[in-house]
This record gives sequence, structure tokens and C-alpha cells, in this order.
Amino acid sequence: MNTPSQDTSLLTPTSLPDLRELVKDLYSTETLWHPCGLGTRLNWGPPIKSTSNPVTVQKINRIIEHSQQDLTITVEAGLPLADLQAALQEKKQWLSVDWPWGSQVITDPKSGGTIGGLVARGLSGSLRQQYMGIRDQLIGIGLIRSDGVSAKAGGKVVKNVAGYDLMRLLCGSWGSLAIITELTIRTNVDDDLVEAIRRPSLDPGAFRVFRSVFDTRGPQGKPLDELFADLKAPLLLLWGNRDPWMNAAGKRASFMRHAPTATTEVVLDAGHCPHDEVPDQVNKALLDWLETQ
Ligand SMILES: Cc1cc2nc3c(=O)[nH]c(=O)nc-3n(C[C@H](O)[C@H](O)[C@H](O)COP(=O)(O)OP(=O)(O)OC[C@H]3O[C@@H](n4cnc5c(N)ncnc54)[C@H](O)[C@@H]3O)c2cc1C
Repeated sequence: MNTPSQDTSLLTPTSLPDLRELVKDLYSTETLWHPCGLGTRLNWGPPIKSTSNPVTVQKINRIIEHSQQDLTITVEAGLPLADLQAALQEKKQWLSVDWPWGSQVITDPKSGGTIGGLVARGLSGSLRQQYMGIRDQLIGIGLIRSDGVSAKAGGKVVKNVAGYDLMRLLCGSWGSLAIITELTIRTNVDDDLVEAIRRPSLDPGAFRVFRSVFDTRGPQGKPLDELFADLKAPLLLLWGNRDPWMNAAGKRASFMRHAPTATTEVVLDAGHCPHDEVPDQVNKALLDWLETQ
């Protein structure tokens, strides 16, 4: 039965520090325990020893941060999959995973288990063909080892590549390596949003517009000095000093020669995509500039 476990021996810490303390205690007393979420599928696979205590994260279940524009979400592991999908749906996003087999999404949403359980099992349905499995959607992880020591790996942005990829190790570990406490996962835009982007491309004139953007034999764009002369609004120029394509060192002077007098320049220690590479600096530069306008 895929319904939440009624086991009265469940150990249910209500916060991360409590969980850490509990795990330390269990370790120091050499007490047998195993991680669990909502306990919907604990009976799957080899039987768990009857003397083992289930330690559940079901009360550690907050949404920590949804970076809507970055399409990532950071949640605590005890968050039910149904609650996660519902929260994302409000923002026209979703987590691209199938409902676990046996879930009764309408009558018993909690039967879908927790996000921690989903990652711990590491299973996928047919959506994997299109979106890849949960393993490939993980960006960061928080965990507590069996001795009560906490660890984190990965990060909160898709481009994060530093450190050991513990996400892949823990995904499919069946609760055998550590208790998962936190996850950062990619989200996806829902069909309405995709449709809103696609619809203009069906316009009868869309192809001509598209072609004009790429057609190098067509009329050339205006030269920089004419473009700048047309400018009615204040301008902020953000340069990445290591940008291999823009060559900031060579081009800054000619830009500034034609730029309107009220132009502000900020040179960042970054490459071609400063907003991806040093988002804090870019955001600060934008906010500082807005304050002066
Ligand atoms: C299409 C599809 C089909 C699936 N089919 C199955 C299936 O048939 N059987 C199945 O078991 N799973 C299946 N899964 C995975 C399923 O999502 C999880 O088993 C389910 O979410 C468990 O949720 P739960 O919170 O009730 O976990 P529980 O039932 O409490 O635990 C399940 C497993 O995860 C471990 N676990 C749970 N939470 C944590 C945590 N925080 N840290 C570390 N380990 C943890 C437990 O030790 C246990 O091994 C499927 C997933 C998909 C996408």
C-alpha cells in the first residue's frame, strides 16, 4: 500500500538541528536506524531489519528558495512531491518527473512520497526520455552522515561545477549512505508558458522577421554613432574585462566616444556573461545605477 506509514516508532525530528542531534545520539549509542520520508514505499526492496528505527524528515519540509527566473528550487527533503508540484504550478513551472508508481494523486496526494524519498530511490518513468532522470536534475544536496556530521555539495545555480558530485552518489542510494536534508533541483516551465512563447512564431509574418534577423545580405544595422545619437534614455554599459568576443579593452574608448554624456560604465572582472558569472556584482551595479537615475 502506498499510504503514509502509521508506524508509532517513527523518530520525527522537527528541525535540522534536532535531526543532527538525534543522528549523533543514535551513532553514539550504536542504535540501528534508517532514513525515511513519508514511509510510502519502505517495504520495497530487501526487507528492513525489524530492530531498525525509521528516522523521518517529514517535518523538515520547507521550500527554502524558488529562483523562478533561474528555474531552480531549493527545498527540504521532507517536502511531499505533491506540495512541491503544487507550489511550482502556481508559478507556471513544474518538476519534470513522473508520479511514482502507485501514487493516487487525486485522492491521496501524499501517496507520492517526499522529494527526498524520490531522490533516494533515484527512479524515473517515461518522462526521463524527454527531461532526463531526477539524477540529472539535481544541482545541490544537503545531507547528514550516519555520525551526525552535516555536508553540502553542488550549489544553487545550474552552472555550478565545483566539488564532488555527491548528488549523483546519493541519488539511488536507498537511504544507505546518509540522510538527505536539502535538495536544489532544476524546474521546468509549464506548457502554458511554452505556448505563450511559441504562439507568436505562428504569426504569418513571423518567418520574415526571423529571417531578417539572420539575413546578412539584408540592410545593415545602424552604425554605433547613429544608434547612440538616437538614444533618449540614460545608458549603463557593463563590460566583462575578460570577454573574448567584445574585447572590452579595445572597444571601450570607441563606445564612450559616441555614447551619450550621461552614460555610466562599469567594468567587471568577468567574461562574456557577467550576469551568470558574477551575478551579485551585476545586480549591485544595476541597483547602484538605478539609484542615481
Ligand atoms: C515513475 C516512478 C516510479 C517509482 N516507483 C517506485 C517503486 O516502485 N518503489 C519505490 O520504492 N520507489 C519508487 N519510486 C521512487 C519514489 O518516488 C519514492 O520511493 C517515494 O517518493 C518515496 O517517498 P517516501 O517519502 O514515502 O519515502 P520512503 O518510503 O519513506 O523511503 C523510500 C526510500 O528512500 C529512502 N529515503 C527516504 N527519505 C530519505 C532521505 N531524506 N534521505 C535518505 N534516504 C531517504 C528510504 O531509506 C527508503 O530507502 C518511483 C519514482 C518514479 C518517478
